[in-house]
Amino acid sequence: MKILCKHIFFLPNTDYLCRKSKCMEIERLYADNALKINEMSEMATAIVREYYDPVIGEAQNTYMLQKFQTPDSIVGQINNGARYYFFKNNGFNIGFMSFYPRNDAMYLSKWYLYKQYRNCGFGRQCLQFIIQEAKKEHLVAIELNVNRYNPTQRIYEHFGFHRIREEKIDVGCGFFMDDFVYRLDFNADAERLKSLVANGLADDDIKQIAYKILDGSRITDNEALALYTRADLGLLGMLAFEIKRRKSGDKVYYNRNFHIEPTNVCINNCKFCSYKKPKDDPQAWELSMDEILHRVAAYKGSKATEVHIVGGVHPDRDIDYYCRLIREVKKIIPGIVVKAFTAVEIEYMINKAGLSIEDGLKKLIDNGLQCIPGGGAEIFDEKLRAEICPEKTKSSVWLDIHRTAHKLGISTNATMLYGHKETYEQRIDHLSRLRKLQDETGGFSAFIPLKFRKENNSMHDFGEVPLTEDLRNYAVSRIYLDNFPHVKAYWVMSGLETTKLALQYGADDIDGTVDDSTKIYTMAGVDGKPSMTVEQIRQLIESVGLTPVERDTFYNEIK
Ligand code: SF4
Repeated sequence: MKILCKHIFFLPNTDYLCRKSKCMEIERLYADNALKINEMSEMATAIVREYYDPVIGEAQNTYMLQKFQTPDSIVGQINNGARYYFFKNNGFNIGFMSFYPRNDAMYLSKWYLYKQYRNCGFGRQCLQFIIQEAKKEHLVAIELNVNRYNPTQRIYEHFGFHRIREEKIDVGCGFFMDDFVYRLDFNADAERLKSLVANGLADDDIKQIAYKILDGSRITDNEALALYTRADLGLLGMLAFEIKRRKSGDKVYYNRNFHIEPTNVCINNCKFCSYKKPKDDPQAWELSMDEILHRVAAYKGSKATEVHIVGGVHPDRDIDYYCRLIREVKKIIPGIVVKAFTAVEIEYMINKAGLSIEDGLKKLIDNGLQCIPGGGAEIFDEKLRAEICPEKTKSSVWLDIHRTAHKLGISTNATMLYGHKETYEQRIDHLSRLRKLQDETGGFSAFIPLKFRKENNSMHDFGEVPLTEDLRNYAVSRIYLDNFPHVKAYWVMSGLETTKLALQYGADDIDGTVDDSTKIYTMAGVDGKPSMTVEQIRQLIESVGLTPVERDTFYNEIK
């Protein structure tokens, strides 16, 4: 059952409460620096015990002693299930709030701001924080009281709260507070969607799966199979978009990036690959170090935040070459994030060097590698993998490389090549291995479905799956991978129109500007030049009613 966050004690009026509570006086003294931290803590604990809940008093005491001296910021602590958050400004404690669990609800027991800081925007900051915490707890709603004469009501309304009733609160000794109760429903949409599901055409077991998804529960492999094979595409879109909405609201992420593809000469012979060429082929290239660095230098002074380096597994290049490459790139643009090398390239270079996965990755990281892209995963099913990419890194090794990277503190992405010979069961097996690894390490940032493209490769006769299958796959992936923060619609692969639709089927990232610096998908038959300006990206996202947000490689928002 979802917990309801209900505000039960809100102290908006300092003057009034200072008359009523010794606690307020102590806090005032502390704010004026007239009390030491331990004196304040002991006195406050005694008062809290007297006025409120003994458990809170205990937790508060511990909290204060441990955390009160932290730098300016919002800080938090979980103690006996209670959480305390202190708000500071220029070293001064300006207010605090506390949450504690009771029965099946998480109560916001107190939210207090010293009078002199009332006009410094704290209300907005505090509400943002409460909403963020409530979402983490999967609360269905927040109810907060506000004194009817308090001007902060407009801030509540700004955040989507609506007034649901008036309330007279007895605060003792014959005093009453006249409040309005404001409510913000998080799952209003979920409830609305449930009634749509109930009245829809889906069969009963699909409806039960839909309710489970809307309740925030994880679906099983069998349920994923039912969604792939029997769920209506409209229903899937609705469910996947709801999951995306809970994770990232109406935001869609993009970054400013460019690719470097050092070579398309490769020791492997993946049957779906349109990119690899023999050395003597007119379409083959082997960029020298100077040529690569010349390309990187063209971005010096630009706003690009990431360089994405992947290519074929060149037989003559080794880990020292690639370490030097990273170092030289960093010399030219020190602030740029180097996201480089698929697990397939990494396996080859570390085997060649006689290193373990861990030592090889450490060496790359020591030389500046910051993130690993998700390529080379293809499809994990061993039998099918042996058929379509027999020499390629084994599934278990791909997963081991990513597991080790996560343990060394490097975030990575994951892909799945779909739309060729694979069955739905094989897709679910692939997603299941990713979900398990993510449960173990939490190191994946994004999942990127990659569509098989048929031009110029030996699997041409399989053809390509239709758009409806792309959307079904985005949606089921978004729903199944409940522990992945992001699903990316890589616009270079999917094309602009499909990318727009994918944003309605669970994707919340479209990759970046790319700047015509990759040939992987154009060689496989995707039309158009792989380059978009920031303005074009923002327009694309806004055209489907969502909000573009520039990010860095690690999903920090760039203002
Ligand atoms: S998909 Fe990658 S590993 Fe396979 S042949 Fe092409 S470039 Fe080489």
